Amino acid sequence: MITGDGEGFDIAMASAGTYASMQDLYAKWPEFAEWAAAEATSQPSGAFDPNDLEAPSPAPRQVFAVGLNYLDHISEAGLQVPDEPAVFTKFVSSLAGPHCDVILPSGNVDWEVELVVVIGKVTRTVKAQDAWSHVAGLTVGQDISERDLQLVGNPAQFSLGKSFPGFAPTGPVLVTPDEFDNPSDLEIGCYLNGEQMQKARTSQLVFPIDMLIEKLSAVLTLYPGDIIFTGTPAGVGAVQSPPRYINAGDELVSYIEGIGRLTQNFRNSSSKRMIG
Ligand code: ZN
Repeated sequence: MITGDGEGFDIAMASAGTYASMQDLYAKWPEFAEWAAAEATSQPSGAFDPNDLEAPSPAPRQVFAVGLNYLDHISEAGLQVPDEPAVFTKFVSSLAGPHCDVILPSGNVDWEVELVVVIGKVTRTVKAQDAWSHVAGLTVGQDISERDLQLVGNPAQFSLGKSFPGFAPTGPVLVTPDEFDNPSDLEIGCYLNGEQMQKARTSQLVFPIDMLIEKLSAVLTLYPGDIIFTGTPAGVGAVQSPPRYINAGDELVSYIEGIGRLTQNFRNSSSKRMIG
């Protein structure tokens, strides 16, 4: 748990193993949140290395992602505002921590910075007005997408093209909703090699977090630790003229105000052949 700039304390140690893993912690989230609020002032803090941070929810049962959820992105894609959220998944094997190398598959790899919600309670048929009490916290995500595979087929099924290893980095931390002045209005953006590609506010979501939880939980049960990628704003590479995609050697930095940033470095799979 982070208590200051580059400082924090080890929850597993401080709780004497009650919350030994992130999954334990989500399974008991309301109780954990109370414990953490009390412990935050009494635990000694120490420095940690930001490079050691892993995904805030490393093994969710379910990963949801929402397409076409910012008006400016819908219009840059030349599409209609959907009547219902356009929901797909990124398979769990694509999850990664906040700072990682990503091997580029063949095709056209694009960026999509997104606000990611982590669920903190079993959630079934919850109305929007009660939805925030089911949120453990918010984090930054990248819905990295290989556009050729994403758009194969008619109708296209997005999930595989968005699920190569490392295509779902999240982090660097989970921020509980009470830590924000307004958790529904945060600046979000990303940079490719230092050039800003996306910049928006999460208040522009067509289906905001509370509505997404209402819509998803009307159909299925959301479990503690489940994550929801809430959609990306304008500025993806595929719609630029000419299109721009990620190349080997590129660095992608994604951020959300009040949470932090992700850094992904891209490379080709080693093409060196062993000659012996
Ligand atoms: Zn997306």
